[in-house]
Amino acid sequence: MKYISTRNNHPPVECAQAINLGMVPAGGLFVPRDVPRIDIASLAGGSYQDTALRVLTPLMTGYTGEELLTCIEHAYNPDTFDTEGVIELAQLDERRSVMELWHGPTAAFKDVALQIMPHFLAAAKRKVGETRHTVILVATSGDTGTAALQGFRDCEGISIIVFYPEAGVSEIQKLQMITAEGSNTHVVAVKGNFDDCQNGVKGLFSDNALAEDLAKTGFTLSSANSINWGRLCPQIVYYIRAYLLLVEQGKLEMGAPVDFCVPTGNFGNILAAYYAMRMGAPIGRLLCASNRNKILTDFFETGVYDKNREFFRTMSPAMDILISSNLERFLYEVTGHDADRIALWYEDLAARGRFTVDADTKSAMDAILEPGWVDEPRVLDAIGRTYRSCAYAVDTHTAVAVAMSENASPASGHMVIDSTASPYKFSRRVVEAISGGGIRDEFRSVDKLHELTGMPVHRAVRDLRHKPVRHTRSISTGAMRDAVLDILARIE
Ligand SMILES: *Cc1c(COP(=O)(O)O)cnc(C)c1O
Repeated sequence: MKYISTRNNHPPVECAQAINLGMVPAGGLFVPRDVPRIDIASLAGGSYQDTALRVLTPLMTGYTGEELLTCIEHAYNPDTFDTEGVIELAQLDERRSVMELWHGPTAAFKDVALQIMPHFLAAAKRKVGETRHTVILVATSGDTGTAALQGFRDCEGISIIVFYPEAGVSEIQKLQMITAEGSNTHVVAVKGNFDDCQNGVKGLFSDNALAEDLAKTGFTLSSANSINWGRLCPQIVYYIRAYLLLVEQGKLEMGAPVDFCVPTGNFGNILAAYYAMRMGAPIGRLLCASNRNKILTDFFETGVYDKNREFFRTMSPAMDILISSNLERFLYEVTGHDADRIALWYEDLAARGRFTVDADTKSAMDAILEPGWVDEPRVLDAIGRTYRSCAYAVDTHTAVAVAMSENASPASGHMVIDSTASPYKFSRRVVEAISGGGIRDEFRSVDKLHELTGMPVHRAVRDLRHKPVRHTRSISTGAMRDAVLDILARIE
């Protein structure tokens, strides 16, 4: 199966090439030409790794079974995930479960994809005969950076440069990044917000002069953001896995639909749920939960995507995003692969910061997706309430989805809420919500949260206290290109 561009501006490529390139050089994203269907019932039983192999095989044609198996074994094992099943399902109440996606090395759901994606990329380079040194550029709102640094650290033939908004990430997130180990990791603070970082990185990818210069010196660029298909397909796996677990636990009959409620930023995680649905997972509705930066809620309600608006810093920084890159893939799918329309909308977005979809597209989206947003006080309330009524602590991102799930009318028998980070990663706010009193110091909050809940402190946070700072570079938004050149000049 080939991968094609959402803007019809690139010849079809094999999966390995889509992963090697990261995004379409002329703008646009790679998507599968056809979404393969699998028989979900036939996947019952087995391990997470078994499910992964069955789900990835038809999506990643061109990779041999043996290659995929090696990638899976390297990514999901007792050294990388602290639970045998990779993910866990916790029951909140009769009708709601929480899918814990944060058992990997950096305590956020992004590990599930970023522990395996570097192996996909290394294999992709061999397959397409890419001998140049790959430079991974990452824009992060906090969690991607750390997870990517962890996933790519000491990978042969690959270096990684992470850009993060200096004042837009939590203390723990920042510490995780600036203490990142590995001889091939580089971390740069940018004096701007996440969209500045993301636009800067997108600009570098579409900078032909830069690409030519880099090629001459033996470098090529790629991406670990969820614009890279290699990030998305490992996420499809856990939706199918969660479904199988619910059936195993007797909460659902095989074939009965389940709803997923997803705290959303760049629209990658929820898009993976959509593809899981297209592959045959019985998913009823997708609830798209936003924080105060509710551009997606407004879009799904009105059909107008408008980024000309105030940007808020919230307590769920990984969701503080005004340009949700993966929405482009969703639009391409719901318009029945209408690349011309997609190209026009994204021209509008680039030129005027907004676009409007037609009524047919809007109703196609309405049939799949229910939008909602939650303001800051309600996020805190949801953390406190969930702790008191279910004895379960959630982080500030998961809490956005939990709050939305409280008022959602269940379309299916059961709802699964994606838990995207360990509460320990955002301890300060979680303690404030649970105990009413805030502690300013992050690590004292971690201790307090442990004292309150008895939950084991996530190792990603526990080990952070004593790690030395290794990355101190800080630049203005206009200096990203120079920073890349400077860093590459030092790689031999
Ligand atoms: C990245 C992230 C999100 C948003 O996920 P998207 O795939 O960008 O929609 C939500 N919560 C946490 C904790 C994250 O790290």
